[in-house]
Amino acid sequence: MRGGLGGPRLLLRRLREVMAEPVSAQARLDRIVIHIAANMVAEVCSVYVQRSDAKLELYATEGLNREAVHLTTMTTGEGLVGLIAEKAEPLALADAQAHPAFSYRPETGEEIYQSFLGVPILRGGNTLGVLVVQNRARRTYSEEEVEALQTTAMLLAEMIASGELQSLAAPGQSLSLQKPMALTGSPLSDGVGLGHVVLHEPRIIVKQLVAENPEAESARLDCAIQAMREQIDMLIARGDRYGAGEHRDVLETVRMFANDRGWMRRLREALESGLTAEAAVERVQNDARAKLQRQTDPYLRERLHDLDDLANRLLQQLTGVAPPHGGALPDNAILVARNMGPAALLDYERSNLRGLVLEDGGPTSHVAIIARALGIPAVGDVPNVTDLVETGDAIIVDGGSGDVQLRPPADVETAYGEKARLRARRREQYHKLRDMPALTRDGVEIGLHMNAGLLIDCQHASEVGAQSIGLFRTELQFMVAPSFPRQSQQYTLYRKVLDAVGDLPVTFRTLDIGSDKVLPYMTKMEEENPALGWRAIRIGLDRPGLLRMQLRAMLRAAEGRGLRIMFPMVAKIGEFVAARDICLREEEFLRSHGYATPSELKLGVMVEVPSLLWQLDEICQLADFLSVGSNDLTQYLFAADRDNKRVSARFDDLSAPNLRALKSIVDAAARYGTPVTLCGEMGGKPLEALALAAIGFRGLSMTPSAIGPVKAALRSVDLSALRAVLTPMIERLDHSVSIRQELQAFAEAHCVPL
Ligand code: PEP
Ligand code: MG
Repeated sequence: MRGGLGGPRLLLRRLREVMAEPVSAQARLDRIVIHIAANMVAEVCSVYVQRSDAKLELYATEGLNREAVHLTTMTTGEGLVGLIAEKAEPLALADAQAHPAFSYRPETGEEIYQSFLGVPILRGGNTLGVLVVQNRARRTYSEEEVEALQTTAMLLAEMIASGELQSLAAPGQSLSLQKPMALTGSPLSDGVGLGHVVLHEPRIIVKQLVAENPEAESARLDCAIQAMREQIDMLIARGDRYGAGEHRDVLETVRMFANDRGWMRRLREALESGLTAEAAVERVQNDARAKLQRQTDPYLRERLHDLDDLANRLLQQLTGVAPPHGGALPDNAILVARNMGPAALLDYERSNLRGLVLEDGGPTSHVAIIARALGIPAVGDVPNVTDLVETGDAIIVDGGSGDVQLRPPADVETAYGEKARLRARRREQYHKLRDMPALTRDGVEIGLHMNAGLLIDCQHASEVGAQSIGLFRTELQFMVAPSFPRQSQQYTLYRKVLDAVGDLPVTFRTLDIGSDKVLPYMTKMEEENPALGWRAIRIGLDRPGLLRMQLRAMLRAAEGRGLRIMFPMVAKIGEFVAARDICLREEEFLRSHGYATPSELKLGVMVEVPSLLWQLDEICQLADFLSVGSNDLTQYLFAADRDNKRVSARFDDLSAPNLRALKSIVDAAARYGTPVTLCGEMGGKPLEALALAAIGFRGLSMTPSAIGPVKAALRSVDLSALRAVLTPMIERLDHSVSIRQELQAFAEAHCVPL
């Protein structure tokens, strides 16, 4: 390094000694800037620290007026220091005062210094401050000097992150790392959780920053890179997944980066500045994060995940720290992850788990389904959240609204604490209704059933007083399994489900995969429109071996008990007839081979494809029962993807066309005496449930936590009065009338709790 006294390695060693000295935080910072200035032959060295109000405050200086310390501040984007913080990039200038962003602060006395080199103090891609050196004479800083100052900034990042400097903040101020933040994502699973951050993939904390023996570090890095490349090659060759949610295309991208020359060169440069191999990986990754995080292009931001993955793998090789595999959690844990597979969530011990926050993961992601089944409040699609948190940070998850409060101030925490208590009180009230029927004030009883998909769901049946399991989504077993469940595994699950709910009937739905429900171990079909593609019963009829295997597992599991099976995505009656025949043949086969068969077998159809609306007479006569899948039916009726936020809100469940379609189903079923329920999300919303009861539904199946609120609403409504309001709005379509608003007004006027 030009002009450096002993170069960056000596500086790092000196600074490490200073870090260990038993002195105050201010004294330590003051010594650090003296050492840096001396080593870099600069007249000035200053440290600016970013506060939670986004201002950069001068915390220490060698060379500028000492009186300016804790006095001079810059906002982000203001002056050269603010510019560095904003761009998160170094800035080297031979004539600083000629730069358009230069902002003169008389109290610092910096007018006599011409050249300026500043670097961001980065941690996990966040800018914690800015480190600056200045020289009186005009000079050009070399690349090595920029590199050396960036390396030095890492040590300062550690110091800031350790919280040591917090004691120097003015009363009422905090550093940016401790800044409270209100984040918003998509609601995945209802409920409020208060607790502390546990990172699903904890960042490996590099403790040893300064290399004792630079040659040895270089050899360690080479070995680790080699081992990592071999590991990735092996995973790709093996062709299966590694951990949850990791697939071939991700691995391919990571492999590409692992062989990237630019990346290798940056690692070497970081090593040469005196860092350990681990610290060099972190340095290079911090820079990449800082750059990519400021990109708005989703493709480029996605690459950041790949680079993170790469850095983590390399750090694992270097430190020998294995990736976590769930397990025990501290009290009141809120898991924070970029993404997580369903199996990974199930691996955690649940008694201490209070919430889940994901960077990716929409409402239909498998992990969201599991979170709902477990009753864990969860929020997805929270941009950058893994970078914004530190392990142990206080955090609140509101799975109903999609809000996440990070490091909340006391008043926010109190408000959410109150909300959580209110919910608990309401749950108690619902619990009191558990054994009472959902009887409306005018004496109409509505059967309330629950949806399930995992064995753990079944315990809720008695807790909430469900009359049956109205929909058992069998695909969940397939989605959380590492490979295709064998017939014996399917049989075991169905048996356990039937055993778990005792006398309550269970309606098993045959495998509903395809579209958004992908099995990681099944080759993904490239389809233009997967929601309209090869899915559910279509797969079952094209691969009758699969369907037969599942039906046999169900028939055997029932063993002398009643069994209800229904088929998803039936679009024409012939499909139901074909599936029914397979089932009846299977039953006959079992009987003729001496197996106990169900005491009674009922075969039903899910009404979720609009074409069935014009085959209702036939299907009502053929099927033993109908179950309306309103999630799919509505998406196909309005041609609006159920998970696409841009379009899903444009179409209201409580609109005349939707209610007309639903009414035509109940009316037809009534004509033939065919039992009908509705098992989509709509049935679990109190206002919607009231409307469904008013148009004639006498059975609704819903997520277990919805049974209490729906029952409370139904028990306080006079259904005939509601019908009198609703019927004209359905029959005489007036686009200026909002059925939802009218129903809401009705509920308020009649004190119906929603
Ligand atoms: C539905 O479509 O409404 C339904 C209950 O099935 P799923 O949500 O599993 O597609
Ligand atoms: Mg469906």
